[in-house]
Amino acid sequence: MKRRDILKTISMLPLAGSLAPISSVFAAPKPKRNVFTELGLRTFINAAGNYTAMSASLMPPEVMEAINQSATEYVMLEEVQDKVGAKIAAMCHAEAAMVTAGCWSAIVLGTAGVITGKDPDKIKKLPNLSGSGMKSEVIIQKAHMVGYEHSVTNTGATIIAVETAAEAENAITENTAMMWFLNREAPSGKITHEAWLQIARKHNIPTMIDLAADVPPVENLWKYNDMGFDLVAISGGKAMCGPQSTGILMGKKELIAAARLNGPPNGGNIGRGMKVNKEEIIGMYVAMDAYIKRDHQKEWKMWEDKIAYIDNSIKKIPGVTTEIVIPPVANHNPSLMIAWDSQKIRLTKESLGEKLRKGTPSIETISWEKDNSIRITVFMLKPGQEKIVASRIKEELLKNSAS
Ligand SMILES: *Cc1c(COP(=O)(O)O)cnc(C)c1O
Repeated sequence: MKRRDILKTISMLPLAGSLAPISSVFAAPKPKRNVFTELGLRTFINAAGNYTAMSASLMPPEVMEAINQSATEYVMLEEVQDKVGAKIAAMCHAEAAMVTAGCWSAIVLGTAGVITGKDPDKIKKLPNLSGSGMKSEVIIQKAHMVGYEHSVTNTGATIIAVETAAEAENAITENTAMMWFLNREAPSGKITHEAWLQIARKHNIPTMIDLAADVPPVENLWKYNDMGFDLVAISGGKAMCGPQSTGILMGKKELIAAARLNGPPNGGNIGRGMKVNKEEIIGMYVAMDAYIKRDHQKEWKMWEDKIAYIDNSIKKIPGVTTEIVIPPVANHNPSLMIAWDSQKIRLTKESLGEKLRKGTPSIETISWEKDNSIRITVFMLKPGQEKIVASRIKEELLKNSAS
């Protein structure tokens, strides 16, 4: 019977409806619904890391509890932002804070707030800045322009790219709205955080820093507020394990108030589409609180132990070399680079990545960096998964050894 025919037959069965009460009498426990199998979704062990496309991180139980609980009552969204914002601001040494729809939207709303202030007429005009009288230029280091600055230009602002401190200072005009800094690229830019702030302060220009993936270390949550950035934007769903679609904008009280006017629940503005629901706002608060209270030293040691376990199970395979790599700024946690001699092991980075992806269970690794190597992280693994990752990588390296 074809599927279509089966469906037709079922729909014609006269008994179909009357069967329902009988089954409820017997009340057999319903098998638990599995949305992954129902949707035919591939789930995987995440040995790659905190990648947006891989759904970033998993929310811990206390965050899920907060989300479930906050789904049971009505509250005023502005009040949720007020209360949660005050808690987050206190935790991060900021004057004020708000939960946004990701770090990207934190940058859009923050930039919009800097440009419009609290003026309703100006808020209505964004992103049409020309002839509006609003300041429209944002100064950014060339090395910091790796794509995320599109969140700045979403507001209608234009970028003035500079390389040296002298250039940055020369670029300041009466049309300068803000100076933006991408923390991840701090090591590749010529101007340090302190020099950037000094120039901005001298000319009274507001500053913003993008910290998206830059915890750990946990201290980064307050370091840049303490340092004097007027606005700090960070992702909520990366290492902090909040809802993936959240972020935080924190900083000066007046700028946060202006940013909020540019976003939901207010309408007729550039940010109305960047809605965050109460469950996510509250979930973010609980995630940050839990993240700050974690034993970070113990967690780091656990990551090192897992990396060592995987390293020890594969490093003696002929032709294989391993190296522990710790990214200095973003995604700062120990990772393992696994490289091989292509004469001894017949694999490319892509083919090993694909074999691990297609295996059971499916495993995602970083398989797009250097040739004849993959890189793995352990900070997104569930307990015990390091053993599976180690044995699968070992299996594939041995299976494809040319001996
Ligand atoms: C992830 C990321 C963003 C965007 O953050 P979302 O929370 O996904 O909106 C912005 N900047 C940098 C450097 C990032 O890594």
